Amino acid sequence: MDKRSTAVIGLGSNLGDRASNIRFGIAEIERLPGTRISAVSSLYESAAHTIDENEIQPDYLNAAALLETTLSPHDLLERCLEIERARDRLRDRDQRWQSRRLDLDILVFGRETIFDERLTVPHPLLGQRRFVLAPLMEIAPELHIPAPFDAPVQYLLEHCTDTTIVEIVSKGRDRESTE
Ligand code: ATP
Ligand code: CA
Ligand code: CA
Repeated sequence: MDKRSTAVIGLGSNLGDRASNIRFGIAEIERLPGTRISAVSSLYESAAHTIDENEIQPDYLNAAALLETTLSPHDLLERCLEIERARDRLRDRDQRWQSRRLDLDILVFGRETIFDERLTVPHPLLGQRRFVLAPLMEIAPELHIPAPFDAPVQYLLEHCTDTTIVEIVSKGRDRESTE
């Protein structure tokens, strides 16, 4: 039998119908082979992090999805990039932190620590981002984040120095009751 792993995907959108973009992302993740979503967070709104502090970008909506999957980490990444492209991500692939309709990041993949040219897991900025930790706290407060963090979500949020205001804007769905 294929190995099943628990993974978390962080979703973000700051262009177009942001909530609909995130719902699209969740629906597409749910359709991936060997993959089942076990929890989806509420939607959280916060100001965009920008590389140039004078740059103004629309606010982000973010959410997190907890899943069980038999896909490999790299296959899951490829599938996430396909889902982003399907939402017509109009941006320069060479530049990070741009406005986008849909951004899917693999935050955690089981107990794995991966660092190669395609994929870094756990997501390297996870501990510095309140907009990532707040939705994660809602769905998996005790989830252990492997090295280099090596701590549960709850601990990372308590020690997060990011002062960005992250507000909950809509309640998440309980996946168990809808299946
Ligand atoms: P950030 O990673 O700081 O959130 P970003 O999401 O804006 O920045 P992108 O331009 O969306 O960055 O991603 C560029 C590349 O990052 C992807 O093509 C992918 O190969 C790589 N990448 C590395 N680690 C991850 C990960 N954990 N999840 C998603 N993509 C990753
Ligand atoms: Ca991102
Ligand atoms: Ca990304």
